[in-house]
Amino acid sequence: MNKNQIGLAIRKYLEDKGVERMELKAAMFDMDGVLFDSMKNHAKCWHETMAHFGLDLPEWEAYMHEGRTGAGTINIVSIRQRGCEATEDEIERIYRYKSELFNQCPKAERMPGAYELLVKVKTSGVVPMVVTGSGQMTLLDRLNRNFPDIFREELMVTAFDVKYGKPNPEPYLMGMEKYGKWRERCDGKSAALSPAHFIVVENAPLGVQAGVAAGVFTIAVNTGPLPDDALLSQGANLLFHSMQEFCDEWENVLGEFNSF
Ligand code: CA
Repeated sequence: MNKNQIGLAIRKYLEDKGVERMELKAAMFDMDGVLFDSMKNHAKCWHETMAHFGLDLPEWEAYMHEGRTGAGTINIVSIRQRGCEATEDEIERIYRYKSELFNQCPKAERMPGAYELLVKVKTSGVVPMVVTGSGQMTLLDRLNRNFPDIFREELMVTAFDVKYGKPNPEPYLMGMEKYGKWRERCDGKSAALSPAHFIVVENAPLGVQAGVAAGVFTIAVNTGPLPDDALLSQGANLLFHSMQEFCDEWENVLGEFNSF
């Protein structure tokens, strides 16, 4: 990725949206597969769970469903293989099995380059946020342990906040709203915000869809086994192949945003 490509991607976004310039205030990061290298475990557990119940979900395909609810994923496979949705009882048993398997996996590591990128983002005066479909109670503790002094609780969107989840734009729209309210509390006056004040960072096709549907400049980080096109075809504005690569390019990305 060179500066020219980054500039072109930003110009195209601005033209599509009919806005003159980006004025980056906050960066909304997805969590699994972006901040933590947790997708390998999820994919493996989905595959093993489905096999246990006589259903077939290859590991690579689990990456295509990343971000979907457990019930949504189970029903796609059930309809494909058996011609009908799974019963509520089945869904519960399958999802419980998968969760138990996942809890036995070693805790996922921080994605290489993620902390270094977040430090750069924050130092640039851009506010880092987390927007995730995950609903673990220990989320904030875990984020603070792995990424000290980066995130604020009031600037997080989790499974507890949203009704629909990705690929619906709801989680990212809510992220923008939370940022707006937080600014208002800090400044004592309301802030006029638009999607051009934000970026989304996503690793999954459905997550990219959600960011794009929210109207936000969406940066895909392809940390899994899917081809780049699985993310680009969903409308990602830029693509990096790792968080480390994005981290190395941060100054160029920010420089290009500021040059418009
Ligand atoms: Ca993800």
